[in-house]
Formats: sequence, C-alpha cells, structure tokens
Amino acid sequence: MKRVEFFRHNIEDEDIKRVEDILRSIFLTTGSAVLEFEQKFSSYTDLQHTIAVTSCTAALHLSLLAHNIGEGDEVITTPMSFCATANSIIHAGARPVFVDVERDTGNLNAELIEAAITEKTKAILPVHLYGQMCDMKKIREIADRHKLVVIEDAAHAIEAERDGIKVGQIADTACFSFYATKNITSGEGGAVCTNRAETADLLRMLRLHGIDKSAIDRYTKRFQHWDMPVLGWKYNMDNIHAALLIGQVERLDELWRKRDRLWNLYEEGLTGVKGLDILRTVKGARHARHLFTILVDPEKRDSILWSLQEKEIGVAVNYRPIHLLKYYRETFGYKEGDFPVAEEIGCRTISLPLYPKLSEDEAQHVIRIVREVVEHHPSKTVHQ
Ligand SMILES: *Cc1c(COP(=O)(O)O)cnc(C)c1O
Repeated sequence: MKRVEFFRHNIEDEDIKRVEDILRSIFLTTGSAVLEFEQKFSSYTDLQHTIAVTSCTAALHLSLLAHNIGEGDEVITTPMSFCATANSIIHAGARPVFVDVERDTGNLNAELIEAAITEKTKAILPVHLYGQMCDMKKIREIADRHKLVVIEDAAHAIEAERDGIKVGQIADTACFSFYATKNITSGEGGAVCTNRAETADLLRMLRLHGIDKSAIDRYTKRFQHWDMPVLGWKYNMDNIHAALLIGQVERLDELWRKRDRLWNLYEEGLTGVKGLDILRTVKGARHARHLFTILVDPEKRDSILWSLQEKEIGVAVNYRPIHLLKYYRETFGYKEGDFPVAEEIGCRTISLPLYPKLSEDEAQHVIRIVREVVEHHPSKTVHQ
C-alpha cells in the first residue's frame, strides 16, 4: 500500500466553484460570502452570533479583549494544547496560569481549577482536546461562583456535545479554527461565536480596527463616515476564505459520520494491544472525532514515531505540553514536574491519520502497521 498521509482536506469542486465566483466578482473582502458563512455556521452550532476572523488565535485574542482582560490579569488554561491557546492570553497582555489535565481524557481537570484562582483571575479558557468536550457544566459553575468569564477553545470541536449542551452554549464565547488540518478548512481562518448580542457587536468592531462600519457598508449603502470608538485589530475574514467554507459547513455531519466510522475501526483494532493505551470517550457525549491518538511507552515514543514514518504512515504529536516550551520555561519559570499528567500524555502520545478521505482499507493498514510496530518494538530506543 502506498503512503497514508497524515491529513487530506475535504475541499470539493463545488467549493472551488464558489471561490471562483467570488474571484470573478468585484468584492473580495468581508462581504456577502462571509455573511452567508456566518449564518450557516450559527445555524449549525446553535450559537446566535458568528464573527468570522482570520484564525482561532485571533478569535481567542479578541474574546479576551472583548471582556477587558489584559495587563495584570490571569487566565486559567490547560498546558495540553497547541501553543496558540496560551499565546493568545499573552497577546492580550494577561498571564496564562496552567492547571493539569485528566489522565483519561487529557482535558482540563475541573477539580483543580479552584486552587489556581487568585484575585487576579479573570477567565477560564478550556480546550476541548482532540474533539471531546470538557466538563463545561462544572467549569461554568466554578466560573459563576468566582465571577469569571469562560472562553472555549473549540478548535477541535465544532461538532461536539456533552451533558445535553453543545459547544459554546454556556460559555461567554467559543473560538473555532479553519486552519489547514482542522475538520473544515480555508487554509487559514477562524470564528468566534457567542449568544450575547452586545459581545457580538463589540467583536465585530474589534476584528476590523475598532471601526463601526465595514467596507461592505460603504459599498452597498449611501456613503457614511465611520468612526473608531475602540482600538481593534485587523482580523476580518475575507469573501475568498468564506466561500471555501460554506459548502464544508453544509457537509459537517456527513464528514463527521465518516470520521466516526474510522474512529470505531481504530478503537476496535487497537484496544488491548500490548504497550498501547487509548483515551476514554465520555459516555453519552458526542466526540467531534478530530484527532485519534495512541499512548505508548515514553521511552519508545520517538522511535515508534520514526518507524511509523519509515513505513509511510503520516503521524504527528499533539502535543508536547505548552509549559515546557522554551519561551514558557524562560518567561514564567515553568519546569518538568509542574503538570505531571500533561507531561505524561505529552511524552507518550502519537496522532494517527483520521479524515473522511481515509479509506477503510487504509485505516486497516494503519492498524496493522501500528500493532506490528508497537508490539515488536525493542525495549530501548534504537535511533540516536
Ligand atoms: C489549531 C489550534 C489553534 C489555533 O488555530 P489557528 O486557526 O491556527 O489560529 C488553537 N487551539 C487549538 C487547540 C488548535 O488545535
């Protein structure tokens, strides 16, 4: 069998056609395609307002700014995520305060949050790791007790539900990513969603310099002068990117069903393999099935990773914990042992290919190779 890529996107001819129509039209920046995408995305997520931006990092940054979080403030988050999550807190001028994760899901451990709250704490920023929602009921309850804002990093989790609530439903804002390897993609892109009209109005201004009219207002209506009531950023999504996403939003559930089927094959094929563990899917929850990860012996992880690559299986590591990245160690003094559960997952995890264009034959091939490599791996790291 030939190479199994780590990821292949789901852009179809109809999506390319929509982009072509935009490119042949006069209006390229934020306009009708963005509006259509925002309406479709809101109706999928059941979140009233969608504000399309250039990345999830921008969505997180603006969410913090919209709640007046900055210099001198602390935001509680997880070390088991992509660095963008914590970086956005620093972009806002605040300080990220990490709390360790649950061993069986990798998600922020709600039991540990209260011990990390100080008088400077302004928000909790959970990440729905790999597509599985955190315990949002518990997190919201803690936040309400301490009057904190809740911002969800839902980059992995557009389709997720848990305890009868969907992503973003009980948060102040939820942030999504349409980066190249996410469940739907425009290459780069993001969105911030909220049920609060006032927050939505502020976010709409903040994504475009803080000005109160956009280019489409000047183009479609009688010329009006704009003012700039607040200082914003340049984070607005354009019509070209939005056009790529519209069809993908319509196909979200179809794409999810294909990943769910592959996920079940992986679970069946890899459960009980010696030297390999799988994270738990919470019962009764809808997992967005974004990343399928296995946990192996930390001493062998890198050499297993290299063996899989040599056998032409695309792999990734999601993630080595944020607090141990050089900048975080040097700036905040974090060190090994600070968040042991995140560190354990970080040195054991390997992500396998998971996307709708992965055939069942390819998935079975991945299972065979993974079993072979993990079960017969020498006990010591062979490379280096
Ligand atoms: C991809 C990702 C981000 C960043 O998304 P961008 O759109 O690239 O800014 C943030 N958080 C998590 C958990 C991610 O996986």
